[in-house]
Amino acid sequence: MFRGAWLGLLLTLMAMPAVAASMNAFRERAVTDPHGLIAAVRQQLDHAGANLPPARERELLWGMGTAAINSNDDAALAEATLRLNSLAAVTHDPVAAAAAGFLQARHDIANGISAGLGEALQAANKVLGQADPGIVAWARYQFCDAYTLDDKPDKAIPLCQQALADYRALGDEFGMGDAENDTGLALATQDKVDDAAAAYKRSRQHYARAGADQLVVLVGDNLAKMYLKQGRPREAMALSQASLKQELAAGRVSDSLDSTTDIALAEAALGLHRQAYARMRDAVARARKAGINGQLIGMLQVESRMAEQVGDLRQALADEREASRLNNQAETPAQRVVEAELEQRYATREKELRISELEHANELKDLQLKAAEADAARRREQQQRQRLASVTIALLAAALLLIVGLLVLLLRAQRRHAAELQAQTLRDPLTGMANRRAFQQRATELLHHPREEHAAPHVLLLIDIDHFKSINDSIGHLQGDRVLRLLTDYLRTAVDDSCFVARIGGEEFTVLCPRAGLAAGMRLAEALRTGVAALVLPKDLPLTKLTISIGVAQFDGARCHDLSSWMRAADLALYAAKSGGRDQVVASKLAG
Ligand code: GH3
Ligand code: MG
Ligand code: MG
Repeated sequence: MFRGAWLGLLLTLMAMPAVAASMNAFRERAVTDPHGLIAAVRQQLDHAGANLPPARERELLWGMGTAAINSNDDAALAEATLRLNSLAAVTHDPVAAAAAGFLQARHDIANGISAGLGEALQAANKVLGQADPGIVAWARYQFCDAYTLDDKPDKAIPLCQQALADYRALGDEFGMGDAENDTGLALATQDKVDDAAAAYKRSRQHYARAGADQLVVLVGDNLAKMYLKQGRPREAMALSQASLKQELAAGRVSDSLDSTTDIALAEAALGLHRQAYARMRDAVARARKAGINGQLIGMLQVESRMAEQVGDLRQALADEREASRLNNQAETPAQRVVEAELEQRYATREKELRISELEHANELKDLQLKAAEADAARRREQQQRQRLASVTIALLAAALLLIVGLLVLLLRAQRRHAAELQAQTLRDPLTGMANRRAFQQRATELLHHPREEHAAPHVLLLIDIDHFKSINDSIGHLQGDRVLRLLTDYLRTAVDDSCFVARIGGEEFTVLCPRAGLAAGMRLAEALRTGVAALVLPKDLPLTKLTISIGVAQFDGARCHDLSSWMRAADLALYAAKSGGRDQVVASKLAG
């Protein structure tokens, strides 16, 4: 940023174009080559001495003062101010006094001294009543410039516009360039970016018409900053590069660092972060080397943001710290607070980065976990399918077993039933005793076996109840049945397991005693006859006497050579017992 300012007194001379051109060059040089101008003025003042007209001396001293401010040359500024004040005292020239006042005001405002604005007001008061419109325009512009410099755009803008109108009326393009440039600066402070850019463009046009080409480029720097804010980094870069070229040629280090910063900012805006950061590091190193601390602070802050952008947090923190330190050279508690805050901010930022890294790692873990879960779910499903299959198989097997079991049970029941049926065919239903068929089977079996050589012959007892027909007749058929069961019960107990008892019909029974011999058979028959005769009959049975007759035949293998001959022999013996009077035992005569 530069502040063009010129004493309008000489405008009266500017009716001549050649003079105007040389004056504009002088005004421009205060900005673009302040050291050169200061040296030139000193030389002229030394040479001319007292011969110099006061108005010319005032002009030269003003130029030297503004150049001193532009180049931070405090000694030159003090010299110019002192000489202007003494000139004012000697010649009673309020304009010289005002010039000294404006220079002092600008110096103080630039250095943050609060008296600055008051000084500018006092200086303006000295000359605003002047008849010379050039002086009035100059004073108004100085006042506008003071407010602009003091960051009071609301006050600055109307004053700058008045100065602009004054300069326009005077046809002073250079002054108009100054006024528009300050207008732009004030508007930029208000963040009215588009309006500020427009003002800077007009300023450049005026300077161009005034032939102040270097100022065109310098205002280009201001315009470039607006372009950056408007998101037009390419246009900003073109302007800044043009500036830089000029600044480097003129050896204006401070301005060249400012332009370099703008170029880096444009690069960053174009996304060339590493390139921007490298450029900025280089520029900061040069600023540090040149000891331009005031400018270095802003540059360090820019570098810090760029370092942060490319992830160089260490450098970002170091830059902010250095900027903070430069901002307040003396270590104050407030600075420590600022530094602590900065440290906190970067610690937080680093933590955020670490957290985002952790989050990334966690996301990866999550993905792995999900994959593992999906795998486990697949395996579980497979296991479930297998379990289901085994359960199904087990159920089927169980069902099969059940069916087989049921079949077995059914078969067994069937067999039992068949066996029962079979048994029933061999049993007498009334008494439960073996029937005629059972007797025939057992007897046939027995006779089938070849008789052992020394064994006694088989014996057959044929038993018949005496007068049973009349028992039936007298006590009834049912009681007759009861008598049959009574006899059966008795035979069961009286005949042991070696002999086979059967009811072969009506009231006839057989006792088959294998290998018993006739004598034993006779003894058994006699025992049975006496046993029955001695039976104590139930009281409710209306029967007084029960007797049996028995025919006994042994199987001799001659006359009794088969079952029927053996039966016939027994039957004959029984017949003989009946004939003999009943209640007796008779052995088959033929059996001998
Ligand atoms: P005997 O002394 O000569 O043997 O004379 P009896 O009356 O016993 O003559 P017989 O043997 O001819 O008679 C058999 C009678 O037995 C004929 C029949 O009424 C009777 N009877 C046959 N089976 C049954 C039966 O199951 N229950 C009953 N109550 N009576 C029967
Ligand atoms: Mg009979
Ligand atoms: Mg009978």
